[in-house]
Amino acid sequence: MKLTSEMIKAKAAELGIDDIGIANIERYSEAPPLMNPKNYFPNAKSVIVIVQRIPRGTYRGIEEGTHWHNYTFYAYNRLNMIFRPKLTYSLACFIEDHGWEAVPHYPAVSEREPTRPPVAPGKLPANIATSIRLMAVGAGVGEMGHSKVFLNPKFGPRVRLDSIMTDAELEPDPMIKPGTLCNKCGRCVKDCPADAIPGVKETDKLIKIRIGGIEISWADVDMGKCVLTHHGLNNTISPFLKKDFPNFEFDVSKAEMTEEEAYRLAYPATGGQWGMALYDEYSSATMKYPSYVRGHGGYYALCGARGCIRACMDNLEKNNKIKNTFKNPFYKKPQWLLSHKKDEKVGVINPFREKWFEENHPNLIKGEQGYENE
Ligand code: SF4
Ligand code: SF4
Repeated sequence: MKLTSEMIKAKAAELGIDDIGIANIERYSEAPPLMNPKNYFPNAKSVIVIVQRIPRGTYRGIEEGTHWHNYTFYAYNRLNMIFRPKLTYSLACFIEDHGWEAVPHYPAVSEREPTRPPVAPGKLPANIATSIRLMAVGAGVGEMGHSKVFLNPKFGPRVRLDSIMTDAELEPDPMIKPGTLCNKCGRCVKDCPADAIPGVKETDKLIKIRIGGIEISWADVDMGKCVLTHHGLNNTISPFLKKDFPNFEFDVSKAEMTEEEAYRLAYPATGGQWGMALYDEYSSATMKYPSYVRGHGGYYALCGARGCIRACMDNLEKNNKIKNTFKNPFYKKPQWLLSHKKDEKVGVINPFREKWFEENHPNLIKGEQGYENE
């Protein structure tokens, strides 16, 4: 049955998809093997990329320092797990209704995918997971920013992406020339609270890949620092860490660890239980707020992309580089940032227990070993 790019785009508009682009499969011939769509679906002829916006208002609570979890809910978990995949699924069904196979591909982080031995000689090891950002570059819906965040002409860095591989041969969209959106302003570098993004002049710290015969590049972001920050171990952007670990002084910008090590540290730390934590609040979670957000949203994102999205979007808005504009500027006052240093050592043995007794029964802990009495 006949299926054209125009028909797919008309259906996408009807579904409420914010932006869409189409690539022919040849554009990915120089992609790394485990990110190459052809190695996933050998019969693929085209790749369709779906763009769904992150509403600017989802950053407002973190920007003001007044509310965190709406960002995780609307800009991450529900957008990535429900809102956008529903549209991808409907578009895949539309393609299959026309007799062409449609492979919807969840945007996995390709370089973190677990590997397994090949199932037969001559096969590549699983898991092949295409890089959604590379797919999106090839489909002409934007370009890679210096920050490694994908930039779209309508919404700048405020997007989440999905892709569909299909055996239908479709008219491709033109690719966007690198440098059309990212003006190498360096705002992402300056405002990243982890110092995770190399400077725009550090040309030896670039990742380079060819897509559609064009060299694209982005900064080799220190993902260990980013993950530690994003996932709650950076005091400078999280008022919650100091509450649970008042004596924990840790300068993430100096941390030397890989992304995987950072996950292994941050996830158990923010999801752990400890009986003695009962003295703090009515929960035994070692980190109360991240644990609460994870419980509700299945994920947690505390940085709010201070540099790589918020600062970048401000730069692109001010330079009239994106189409989705607003009546008011995003920043209305200087940004807040906390210190990573502790104020002074709190407590002796168990600061939470000691605080509770001081507030409720101050005389009862006098004379206890190690506890200072007047
Ligand atoms: S803030 Fe955005 S536009 Fe500026 S250098 Fe970073 S990615 Fe490029
Ligand atoms: S999410 Fe935060 S820590 Fe990570 S790169 Fe962006 S601004 Fe930096």
